[in-house]
Amino acid sequence: MRRHAQVRRYLVAFDTDRLPQVFTDVAVIGSGVAALRAALEMAPALHVTVLTKSRLTESNSYYAQGGIAAAIAPPDTVQGHMADTLATGCGICDEAVVRQVVTAAPDCIRELIQWGAQFDTSGGRMDIGREGGHSAPRILHARGDETGKEITSALIRRATGRSEIDIREETFAIDLLTVGGAVAGVLAWQPAHGMLVVRARRTVLATGGLGRIYRETTNPEVATGDGLAMAYRAGAVLADMEFVQFHPTALYIAGASRHLISETVRGEGGRLVDKAGRPFMHEYHPQGDLAPRDVVSRAIVSHLRRSGETHVFLDLAPLGHEARKRFPGIAKACAQFGIDIARDRIPVRPAAHYMIGGVKADRAGRTSLERLYACGEVSSTGLHGANRLGSNSLLEGLVYGREAGRRIVEELSAAVPASAAAAAREVPERIRSDVTRSTRGELNLPDVRNSLRSLMWRNVGIVRGAEDLAEADALIEFWQSYVLDKVFDQPAGWELQNMLALGRLMAHAALVRTETRGVHVRSDWPERDDEHWRRHILMARDQELRLE
Ligand SMILES: Cc1cc2nc3c(=O)[nH]c(=O)nc-3n(C[C@H](O)[C@H](O)[C@H](O)COP(=O)(O)OP(=O)(O)OC[C@H]3O[C@@H](n4cnc5c(N)ncnc54)[C@H](O)[C@@H]3O)c2cc1C
Repeated sequence: MRRHAQVRRYLVAFDTDRLPQVFTDVAVIGSGVAALRAALEMAPALHVTVLTKSRLTESNSYYAQGGIAAAIAPPDTVQGHMADTLATGCGICDEAVVRQVVTAAPDCIRELIQWGAQFDTSGGRMDIGREGGHSAPRILHARGDETGKEITSALIRRATGRSEIDIREETFAIDLLTVGGAVAGVLAWQPAHGMLVVRARRTVLATGGLGRIYRETTNPEVATGDGLAMAYRAGAVLADMEFVQFHPTALYIAGASRHLISETVRGEGGRLVDKAGRPFMHEYHPQGDLAPRDVVSRAIVSHLRRSGETHVFLDLAPLGHEARKRFPGIAKACAQFGIDIARDRIPVRPAAHYMIGGVKADRAGRTSLERLYACGEVSSTGLHGANRLGSNSLLEGLVYGREAGRRIVEELSAAVPASAAAAAREVPERIRSDVTRSTRGELNLPDVRNSLRSLMWRNVGIVRGAEDLAEADALIEFWQSYVLDKVFDQPAGWELQNMLALGRLMAHAALVRTETRGVHVRSDWPERDDEHWRRHILMARDQELRLE
């Protein structure tokens, strides 16, 4: 199979000897649940430096609404949670990973409560909701639909109280630094001070997903896939880049951000209806409005195609006035456009939501690169297989943040006293990159970015076919030819270079997987093909694509 993308090793030219340097035990990139949970596991044993490209609260985690899955109350069981996760993953989940994550769930919840997170209760008991794909009520939520905010705030309060955790906001990670194939820290950038070298004995990548590569997405602006791209440039193995989950119901109003309308809305009685107010989900799946989210996304796409309309509606009338109380975030977002969710129907359509593929990581968060760990949405652990069960991702971030943290503490504790060889490798080496500036003309960055996002939505979206994918591959290759040779000095340029590298990998992986499985739906290969495709697609820089 041919090579899939050509990218240079570093995005910018630098010489570590000429830049300010920070020394730390562990650099953690990101400030969502995975990053913060990892940092908390390592302090006070280790000094941790958390880098985040915007404010501490800017993350997918903070905006998560529906909740977190955990089998905490009978008749639900860990086995039930495991069976639902495996069934949703369509035959390619790693069973040991699923077991590890769902078994750890109740303990993660206890821990969050201990740290001050308050989950919603009803009649003195935890109020446990139900969501599509879950065979039992299992979803814990907080402040109605502000679960991510509640959990992240508890983690932030705890992390900011720890003197061993040095938090640097507005610090953009440009590239992972490597010495002889091992990761030695991060090259970062701050608006006020320019480039900065963070030397670290271990690095944890927790940069989240890449929803912004699509025109329609529920993800906030920070989700541009930087971590995936920088890991790829550094030589890490990426897995399953074709698997992107689309959320069926994002608010669809021209000019509004694609605010997510949580699936719990349907779990609690909300219905999808068409323009005439007619429910239609039972025409597509026996579970109707409670079908798995990829089924619902596809059903909406089919319905829109048939009707020629641009969106469908969510009808919360069955919930009555309770709707506003139960979903205050959604009520507020809709109220800005004069929509009262207890009375009016909400216009919705699908949007890119969650990156299932990512940096391949094992059950301790270790990646294929020495000294690099990955956890949360940026990673690919095998938990989700070909489709993610709703409310499993906050959980995954917490479980693997903790696991990565634990493993790093063990490794670095065992490394004292270090062997002579290990000690020699700890000495900071000078690292240089001599990228030269392209002499080609200026670029309209927003124009390329918008074109890429539209192309990904059209050609690498919910339903994809060989022709569209090949066209995307070729067009992105063309854009790469005059964008990747530039050297930018601001995040907008680096993000675009990251997204172009990833778009090509995604189109390429989607083209290679000639079957339909989970969220990957091929118009020209509509059947699941277990004989050939119960496998993962692995990609690494300068290597042939591999199947495993
Ligand atoms: C609207 C919405 C609702 C959701 N609802 C749910 C839900 O109810 N339940 C559930 O389980 N999941 C939900 N999800 C998914 C879930 O929120 C995410 O998968 C999960 O929070 C990812 O956590 P994370 O820590 O891996 O990444 P994130 O929380 O996305 O954090 C990534 C961090 O990395 C930082 N970063 C990125 N690039 C760089 C860079 N170059 N330099 C420095 N920092 C960088 C970002 O700023 C951010 O702080 C939802 C997602 C969205 C968008």
